[in-house]
Amino acid sequence: MKTLKIAIQKSGRLNEKSVEILKNCGLSFENYKSSLISTVTNFPLEILFLRDDDIPEYVQDGIADLGIVGENVIVETKAEVSYLQKLGFGKCTLKIAVQATSNIQNLDELNGKAIATSYPVILEKFLQEKGIKSDIRTISGSVEIGPGLGLSDAIFDIVSTGGTLKSNGLKPFADVMQSEAVLIGNKSIADNPEVAELLQRIRSVLSAKS
Ligand code: ATP
Ligand code: ZN
Repeated sequence: MKTLKIAIQKSGRLNEKSVEILKNCGLSFENYKSSLISTVTNFPLEILFLRDDDIPEYVQDGIADLGIVGENVIVETKAEVSYLQKLGFGKCTLKIAVQATSNIQNLDELNGKAIATSYPVILEKFLQEKGIKSDIRTISGSVEIGPGLGLSDAIFDIVSTGGTLKSNGLKPFADVMQSEAVLIGNKSIADNPEVAELLQRIRSVLSAKS
C-alpha cells in the first residue's frame, strides 16, 4: 500500500487548524516544528510542512497527494487540482482598498490607476471581468504602505478586520473574493480508498462541529 502525502502550512495562519483537523480525524503524529515531514503512526500517511504558496503546485505535480491551503492561493497559483472539501477555517476576504481621503466612487475610476498587490492573478481576472484596465504593481508584502508613499493609488489584499487598512490611512472599496481553507487533491487520486477514508473522517469532524 502506497503511503499518501498531505501538504499543510509549516507555520502561519493555517498551520494550527490544519494540524487540529488531522488530529481530530484520529491521526497520530508528532507535530515537529523543525522537521519538514512527519509520519502518521496509525494511518498510511505522511505530512509535509511547507510554505502555503508551494502547496497547490506540489499537489498538482503529485509530490503530495493532498493539501490544505487557502482558496486564494489555489486561484493565484493557477494550479490544476481537485477541490475535495471546504474546511471552514482561514476565512478572509480579498478587497481593493483606497486612501481614506479618496472620493473614488465607482470601479470605473480605477481605470489607469496603479494598484499594488501580492495577488496579481486574482486582481487581473476581476478587473478583466469588469472591463477595467489598471496598472497592477506586484509586490510581495506590506502592500498597505503603497498609497501613503505615492507608490500606488489603491491596493488589493486580504482584509480581515480592516485594522491594518485603517492604521495605514486606507478604507475598503470593493470586495473581490471570499476565501477559506480547502482540502485539495491531485487530479488522479479520485478513487484511492485511503483518500476516501480520510475524506469521510474529515467530513464527520466538520459535521460534528457545525
Ligand atoms: P507562508 O510562510 O506559508 O508563505 P504567508 O505569510 O503567506 O505564509 P499567512 O499569513 O499565514 O501566509 O496566511 C495564510 C492564509 O491564511 C492566506 O493565504 C489566507 O488564505 C488565510 N487568511 C485568513 N485570514 C487571513 C488574514 N487576516 N490575513 C492573511 N491571510 C489570512
Ligand atoms: Zn505564503
